[in-house]
Amino acid sequence: MSAYWSDFVKTLDPYVPGEQPTQTDLIKLNTNESPFAPSPAVLEAIRQATADQLRLYPSPESDRLRTAVGKYYDLPADHVFPGNGSDEVLAHLFLSLFRHQGKQILLPDISYSFYPVYCRLYDIDYQSVPLADDFSIRIQDYLALPAESISAVIFPNPNAPTGIALTRAEIEQLLIQRPQWVVAVDEAYVDFGAESCVPLIRKYKNLVVLQTLSKSRSLAGLRVGFALGQPELLEGLVRVKNSFNSYPIDRLAEAGAIAAFEDQAYFEHTIGQVVDTREYLIEALKKLGFEVLPSRANFVFVSHPQHDAGQLLAALRAHAILVRHFSHPRIASFLRVTIGTKKQCETLIKSLSEILS
Ligand SMILES: *Cc1c(COP(=O)(O)O)cnc(C)c1O
Repeated sequence: MSAYWSDFVKTLDPYVPGEQPTQTDLIKLNTNESPFAPSPAVLEAIRQATADQLRLYPSPESDRLRTAVGKYYDLPADHVFPGNGSDEVLAHLFLSLFRHQGKQILLPDISYSFYPVYCRLYDIDYQSVPLADDFSIRIQDYLALPAESISAVIFPNPNAPTGIALTRAEIEQLLIQRPQWVVAVDEAYVDFGAESCVPLIRKYKNLVVLQTLSKSRSLAGLRVGFALGQPELLEGLVRVKNSFNSYPIDRLAEAGAIAAFEDQAYFEHTIGQVVDTREYLIEALKKLGFEVLPSRANFVFVSHPQHDAGQLLAALRAHAILVRHFSHPRIASFLRVTIGTKKQCETLIKSLSEILS
């Protein structure tokens, strides 16, 4: 701690991301990246963007990217708000829409652990709503709370780190019954088999959907995410963004992200592989005695009745395999395993068989 730190900085409790090792011979199943390279069209678009363009600032509102994403979802460009990863979009969302004096926001007790970090950063009061015993989000638990003291609700769908998804109809109940709340659905993993709420955007002015190119489009290193919502709502995020950084999407990122949305065949192919491998991995883990939550994401959340998750984490590390463990008491017996290639998952199963026996 430095004497030069502000009092405020001393109070922060920052998010700790999963390990990004410098060692390259590890099987990395700890941060939900894609095991596949991005589309070759993405690399080509980035290469072309470098010629004479990098000396110029990019488009401040990323107009071409907004148009491309809008076209993909059949929405006008003004319904799209891009940022430097969806984490940055989340930060702007919390400050612009969630910070209401005397009101709380709601989030699940088990979900993306960055949400409470933003709450502390922006001094937003929040209430954690426990997941049901089967680790699902139960919409009626949110509707049972006193509506007047709440300004917003946010959750991932599918949820992280459980992988369990709500249906669009369930989420629509929240939008219908709580029009005075902002309902933010973080769809970081939606492409792996859950129902997206994007088709509800034209109908509900209190809905914001967040998506990222980091997982299903193999571009965690490019840092592009976006929010979708009605323009009036998103204008709040634009105001925060333009009070913080006018150019969050650099020229290479914009070119690559547009190309990713234009290569539908590659996207479907890689998603298909991840989903097939997920089904293989679930069966193989169950055969080893693991309990596996029903996943609609590119990871599975598993526990073993006879083995301590922390010890399994360490044993896998000794086999050069990284997975993720969370210390929250309710999920301390679980490991989150990202779906890798079929070969990586076979190696994981082989190592686990050795470790368990
Ligand atoms: C990975 C993840 C993000 C962040 O994605 P980036 O676009 O890489 O910042 C946001 N929300 C959830 C639930 C995630 O798992």
